[in-house]
Amino acid sequence: MSAAATPVVTPLNISYNVSFPEALAHYVNIDMNISGLSAKEIDLKMPVWTPGSYLVREFAKNVEGFTAEADGKTLTAYKTDKNTWHIINNTHSAIKVSYRVYCFEISVRTSFVDAAHGFLSTSGLFLYPAGMLNTPSQIHITPYKTWTTVSTSLERVNGDQFTVMAPNYDILFDSPIEVGTQDVFFFDAVGVKYEVAMVNGGNYNREDLKRDMARVVEEETAIYGENPNKHYVFIVHNYAKGGGGLEHLSSTVLGASRDAYGTKGGYENFLGLVAHEHFHLWNVKRLRPIALGPFDYDKENYTPNLWIAEGFTAYYQDIIIRRTNMYPVEDYLNRAAASITSVYNQPGAKEESLNDASFNAWIKLYRPNENTNNSTISYYSKGSNIGMLLDLEIINDTKGAKSLDDVMKYMYDEYYKVKKRGYTDAEFKAGLEKFAGKNLDDFYNKYIYGVADVDYNKYLGYAGYKLIDDNANIVTPTLGTTAVKLINGRYGVTGVLRNSAAWVDGINVNDEIAAIDGTALTNDPDKTIADRKPGDKIIVSVVRDGLLKNITVTILKSDLVKYRIVDAGTPTAENMVVRKKWLKLQ
Ligand SMILES: [Zn+2]
Repeated sequence: MSAAATPVVTPLNISYNVSFPEALAHYVNIDMNISGLSAKEIDLKMPVWTPGSYLVREFAKNVEGFTAEADGKTLTAYKTDKNTWHIINNTHSAIKVSYRVYCFEISVRTSFVDAAHGFLSTSGLFLYPAGMLNTPSQIHITPYKTWTTVSTSLERVNGDQFTVMAPNYDILFDSPIEVGTQDVFFFDAVGVKYEVAMVNGGNYNREDLKRDMARVVEEETAIYGENPNKHYVFIVHNYAKGGGGLEHLSSTVLGASRDAYGTKGGYENFLGLVAHEHFHLWNVKRLRPIALGPFDYDKENYTPNLWIAEGFTAYYQDIIIRRTNMYPVEDYLNRAAASITSVYNQPGAKEESLNDASFNAWIKLYRPNENTNNSTISYYSKGSNIGMLLDLEIINDTKGAKSLDDVMKYMYDEYYKVKKRGYTDAEFKAGLEKFAGKNLDDFYNKYIYGVADVDYNKYLGYAGYKLIDDNANIVTPTLGTTAVKLINGRYGVTGVLRNSAAWVDGINVNDEIAAIDGTALTNDPDKTIADRKPGDKIIVSVVRDGLLKNITVTILKSDLVKYRIVDAGTPTAENMVVRKKWLKLQ
């Protein structure tokens, strides 16, 4: 007798053929060829979420027509949970799995196919062998008949744009693919080849974009001292009205409004989005909270640090544009003031901490309802404000020698490059403290773990600035509702502000406001009561679920602020040191 031979584990060989025979009906057809199987059964899975967008989206719901075969014979295959297919291949070492995916959700994180183009958000398309995320794969694309071009950061095989390869599934799921007739142009910056794929037109000017996007790239790369990519792709989806973006390791997908490039504000917003998503290639894609990689594609990946990953990125998107000098100091200060205003005016800022807002993204930020404004805070806007405060704190503490940039670079070097892992909450705090030169327990307890009112003037004061509220001396009577005019002429209530007159006296979301004091509305409810005074009592007639109700409401004064950032006085020499470093003044 001889000892049992150790089974030879053959690495799997996986390739996909992607085609669009029913592009007009919004389907992608996928044939997945797997060879090198040594076991008699295999599980194939589809991620339930796409990294960067913190919501379980159940991509498997779009899969249809699943079959598995080998040597021309159908294999037994069945689902064992919502996103797992179990295949019994027996002795077959090579199998073919076929399925099609319905793709008709327009967003930067979901696949979309129509006659014009195919946007392949890979995490919701490609099945992977369970437990074998390290397996490389090759993808061959047969485009719909009118499509000519593929844009992706995935490496081409033998220079063929229709055949690309992914070294593992983490990279495949982080590399969206655009197929269609997009307008592609290139620019070089910091030694990296940048590709821009403009989908569905727009009034952009190629040369302006090449120049201005390169400036953004240069400013951001300067913070970290290196750019880890050799090739980076901006996929830009242009819509009648669009926005938003999703970051990836070596590419990003942006949504834009087709006609926005022609206005100063629209163009600045687009560059801000470019700056935001590109900044993520360091902050979150590489320098990351410990929970965000390696990813678990089966369920939520919780982190309390999205206020760093997203909030600091939101802070940098504006300060970077300021540093390029593409807009003046006043424009930057107005954007910072608008962000402060939005947090102040959100009652949820007093209900939910930044730490909790991050952790709860999966069930709150990505699943908003009519009460979101009252019960939650955005880790984008408040995180951006906190980033600004910490930047000012470090600049002031070091008399202009250091800034938040140094924290970001230090953390990137220390955790991404040296330790090769994400940071914990305590480790990021320690990084901030290292450069601030002080303990930040009190700051964290108040502003990160707690919901204390932020003392903006203390930090803006380092740079000789302060906030002023343009609404401070204005008394505005208000019900505290947001309402839209309905086709029947009534005003449908879409939101009720916490502690407002409507909140206190019981006007509800979905109420249709028909009349005030017996007169049918011809204008927005707050405009209708513009000449009344806080303390006045009015009868608001609403239709609620088909029944007319008359509600006595005591009008209250609006508490909404409208901040601007202005000089606190004549800035001192110390103020100017902070201001110059912060705003990169010459
Ligand atoms: Zn972001």
